[in-house]
Amino acid sequence: MDIMNKVNELAQAVGDKANELVEYGKLNAQILSENNEIDAIKKQIGDACFGKYRAGDALDPELEDLCRKIERHKKSIAEKQRQLRQMKGDTDGAKQRQAENGFCPYCGGELVEDAAFCPRCGRKVFRDGE
Ligand SMILES: [Zn+2]
Repeated sequence: MDIMNKVNELAQAVGDKANELVEYGKLNAQILSENNEIDAIKKQIGDACFGKYRAGDALDPELEDLCRKIERHKKSIAEKQRQLRQMKGDTDGAKQRQAENGFCPYCGGELVEDAAFCPRCGRKVFRDGE
């Protein structure tokens, strides 16, 4: 019957199209995964180069230049981290001074002598030696 042949043909075509779409998605996923792999390997190359630079090995001038840039960033990061530690220390010190003066450093409420927690906001307050 001619109509049945047509229906079968159509079903076959739909099936082929669906398989093609699955295959298409698989290939795209594989490409993405391999590109990620390449990026990871590039990072390994960079780490290996930087390791050699730190060990004092002679490198291509272009690579040495890039390694120097990394070192400058590392120094800059270390300096910023030092500033952060100092700021945190200053903040902690100010909170402690306020608590020692009898006031909660968080809400400003009056503290009860020797109480470890603020009676108003309930937060722990640190005093000398804690
Ligand atoms: Zn409080």
